[in-house]
Amino acid sequence: MKEKLEALKKRFAVVDDLQRAAALLSWDQQTYMPRRGAAARAEQLATLQKLAHEHFIAEENGALLNDLADYAAQLPYDSDEASLIRVAKRDYDRARRVPPTLVEEMARAASLAFEAWQRARAESNFKLFQPHLEKNVELRIELASCLGYKERIYDALLDQYEPLMTTAQVEAIFTSLKPDLVALVQAITRRADAVDDAVLHREYDVQQQWEFGVEVAKRLGLDFERSRQDKSPHPFTTSFALNDVRITTRLKPNFLPSALFGTIHETGHALYELGYRPELERTPLAGGASLSAHESQSRLWENIVGRSRGFWQFWFPRLREVFPAQLADQTVESFYRAVNKVSPSFIRVEADEVTYGLHIMLRFELENALVERRLAVADVPEAWNAKMHEYLGIVPPNDAQGCLQDVHWAYGDLGYFATYLLGSMFAAQLYAQALREVPAIPEQIARGEFGELLAWLREKVHAHGRKFTLDELARRVTGASLHARAYLTYLKTKFGEIYGV
Ligand code: ZN
Repeated sequence: MKEKLEALKKRFAVVDDLQRAAALLSWDQQTYMPRRGAAARAEQLATLQKLAHEHFIAEENGALLNDLADYAAQLPYDSDEASLIRVAKRDYDRARRVPPTLVEEMARAASLAFEAWQRARAESNFKLFQPHLEKNVELRIELASCLGYKERIYDALLDQYEPLMTTAQVEAIFTSLKPDLVALVQAITRRADAVDDAVLHREYDVQQQWEFGVEVAKRLGLDFERSRQDKSPHPFTTSFALNDVRITTRLKPNFLPSALFGTIHETGHALYELGYRPELERTPLAGGASLSAHESQSRLWENIVGRSRGFWQFWFPRLREVFPAQLADQTVESFYRAVNKVSPSFIRVEADEVTYGLHIMLRFELENALVERRLAVADVPEAWNAKMHEYLGIVPPNDAQGCLQDVHWAYGDLGYFATYLLGSMFAAQLYAQALREVPAIPEQIARGEFGELLAWLREKVHAHGRKFTLDELARRVTGASLHARAYLTYLKTKFGEIYGV
């Protein structure tokens, strides 16, 4: 059996090499590639991805996985071997269920939809995008039927991003959060003037912003011998190897948080990718457990740590050395309040911590209604605006600032959005547990010491790679499945104090 396992690992290592070579080409495309390289790059990426897919779904892999099933059952559930076989089997079965013709059709429809979406958004004309969204929704309904599901059609789509989590579970968690979140937003909105964030919109030299961001990332624990940061229009993290993880950021001269919190966010993703055990490299267990698990790491560092008072007790004096004129009239307290301003707004990616969740619930609810055919695509703008009004008390003036704002539906990525909010919740749940086990963490943060928190996350979360599902991870580390309570307590405590509500 050991030989079969070694044979399987060798085959998976080839798949991993191909995937990471594709990731490198994609990273280059988004950072340094000259514009006219795009056509050739698209061909190269398609070739590598097709090769990776073919190598992964090969009959030989299925045979080896079947032969190893009994062997895996005798091993401890959390052993490297049993986990590799279990997780790879899940990936393999899922990949085999989707016919290559459907994959091609989805890719083609998505690229047409992306073009149409760009135009529709620029002109704020939903009608231009509508037939493409209809096509994308139909193809996802077909995809879901290929993938299979027990209860809800959305389960199959969600499973692509959050393995084994069900729509009903997400609904239950969101439902337990929504009324309190809506009430909190309303209470804060009545006291909107309590926080002034004008300081964030002053002029900040972009090179100095860059250098400050790197200084923060290093101090948080990002090793620049194993990673690097570059610029891109949309910040992201990607990994080519355990010792080669890339992050990007974007710099805006008139908006300090963009690069600062963007860099901290991506640093959180990068620390996760740098933290799995070396034994898992070049196997299907390399990387993060799921999209929600990944987002829990980025948001823990960006929001729970990076937007905490203690964090700015340490960093504000340093930031004022870099930008003395811009911050002359500020204190730690005024700056802390500024980076935590809450205000209902139309655009999800610019939303604050409190309103963010409601943007996600809206999308999750509409996506479910679409694939269950309870909502026609033509009625999306109206449904969107009604929910914006209900949850945030505002209605977008046009569809560009409403249902056309996100790229996800153009790509056909239905089932994705929920992971952003689940990640925020898991971050709060993890952090609460970390504080129970290491109560000194907040004092350490206020002294600019982040090593013990990182070590805790390494041991509890990062080291396992993709071994466990989000639910398994939550129960192992915190003793409970994912829930909204820690997140709600965190939001109510922090913003209740800031806004006096
Ligand atoms: Zn992220």
